[in-house]
Amino acid sequence: MSEKVRVRFAPSPTGFQHIGGLRTALYNYLFAQKEDGVFILRIEDTDQKRFVAGAVENTIAFLENFGMAPQEGPKFQKDFVNDLLSEKYPGIVHHGSFAPYIQSEGLASYQETALRLVQENKAYYCFCTAERLAILHDEQSKEKRAPKYDRLCKNLSALEIKERKEKGEAAVVRFAIPGNRSAIKARDLIHDEVIFQAETLDDFIILKSDGYPTYHLAHIVDDHRMEISHVLRAVEWLPSLPKHILLYEALGWPLPFIGHLPTILGSDGKKKLSKRDGDVSIEYFEKAGYLREALINFVALLGWNPGKGSTKEIFSLSELVQAFDFAQIHKAGAVFDLKKLDWMNAQYLKKLSIDELYEKAIAFDLLESEFFSTVPAIKKSEAFLKKILAVEQDRLVRLSDIGIHNPFFFASTLSYDASLLHWKDNDATMTKTALVQAEKLLSGLDETIWDDAELLETKLLEAAGDKKGDFLSPLRVALTGAERSPSPAQAVWVLGKEEALLRIKNAIEKLA
Ligand code: GLU
Repeated sequence: MSEKVRVRFAPSPTGFQHIGGLRTALYNYLFAQKEDGVFILRIEDTDQKRFVAGAVENTIAFLENFGMAPQEGPKFQKDFVNDLLSEKYPGIVHHGSFAPYIQSEGLASYQETALRLVQENKAYYCFCTAERLAILHDEQSKEKRAPKYDRLCKNLSALEIKERKEKGEAAVVRFAIPGNRSAIKARDLIHDEVIFQAETLDDFIILKSDGYPTYHLAHIVDDHRMEISHVLRAVEWLPSLPKHILLYEALGWPLPFIGHLPTILGSDGKKKLSKRDGDVSIEYFEKAGYLREALINFVALLGWNPGKGSTKEIFSLSELVQAFDFAQIHKAGAVFDLKKLDWMNAQYLKKLSIDELYEKAIAFDLLESEFFSTVPAIKKSEAFLKKILAVEQDRLVRLSDIGIHNPFFFASTLSYDASLLHWKDNDATMTKTALVQAEKLLSGLDETIWDDAELLETKLLEAAGDKKGDFLSPLRVALTGAERSPSPAQAVWVLGKEEALLRIKNAIEKLA
């Protein structure tokens, strides 16, 4: 095992990256950065039946997009694209320096290790068919016993194995749980001491009949040869830890430090976060308009906190690197609170300059959204959108919210009932007087004032004097067709002179 910190993110390409994967990758990445170690990506694709097309590409893009590109890999990308891997995963768009390690590319090493265990009598070939195992498990469950392989094939002679293989019978390799073990103890970085009973363990499969290793064998072989120093993974793997410990012992290899991250619970705080709680894929959150910075920050706090009485909640990636510490990872499940993510995203959106916010909105493909598909080109201009952003920024929760709460800014004509123009019990004459006054004031304003929302506000407030409602309310409705909207000064500023005056004129006509 390496003295240097070497960690890996080792997803199976059985789906697209989700919140849980982001957290596992992030904690590994943070730890590697903090300890000046190495962060590796390893694709664990030995379960060919569960392979999902596009999942490898999705993982590579995800790490790069979130600023966690692997810091080591088998080859530089230049070779990698020209390699047969690009035929295998044609969609890969890879900008980082390193390609991932891919397990299915090196089956021989797992097969050699399995063979070594067979030769040392620590593993054996098993020819039992799926049908036989199903009957066996059925009987066991009728007797209320846990399903467990009955070791029928454990003592087959070398000759019988050879003959059955030659006849073309499919064989797996099973690890033989040593008979001399009772309790298996482990130290988990997060759960401290954990003890398992050996008698509950089955002679589990390490090599399948298609020559592919199972996860149990493959990850141990790789963690060993890649000199992984620390394994941080989901708590789902904790029950498998005794199997892994026995495999390490059988192979005579030292164990890395291992920690199992707490479960992420759905918002009810009871069940594990899953699709029941809505789509939990990273892609979904990005498409919903959450910023990567906010997602990282939010996910970092799912099971970890800065400790030492700190109440700090907003962390950049580099601040997380500084603050990250295993000791502060919780054992108990962490609740996925969408409201908190909304709050956090809003904080990140607020911190951006208008130029940055605009860049993010464009990169988000805002203008391709359903809402913007009906908006005329002039109102999709950079200048107009930046005004919208300035007005909306403080209340934005997601990028996808941009514009939709103020549709009147984008409309070519407003349709509203004339009665809406009246402030309280004011009659048409009073409303009209106010609007004519506003029209006169605004049309007389110097061009430079039109570019300054604050100055416009001052002018309008001055004109309103102590009759704010009477003066400003009809103006607000004239400009937006709505009672609730940004202030009249902001509306005037966003719309610009020509359109603001046109809308006021139309309102006056409605009163005629
Ligand atoms: N391939 C496993 C997974 O996707 C990795 C578990 C581990 O990190 O050891 O969950």
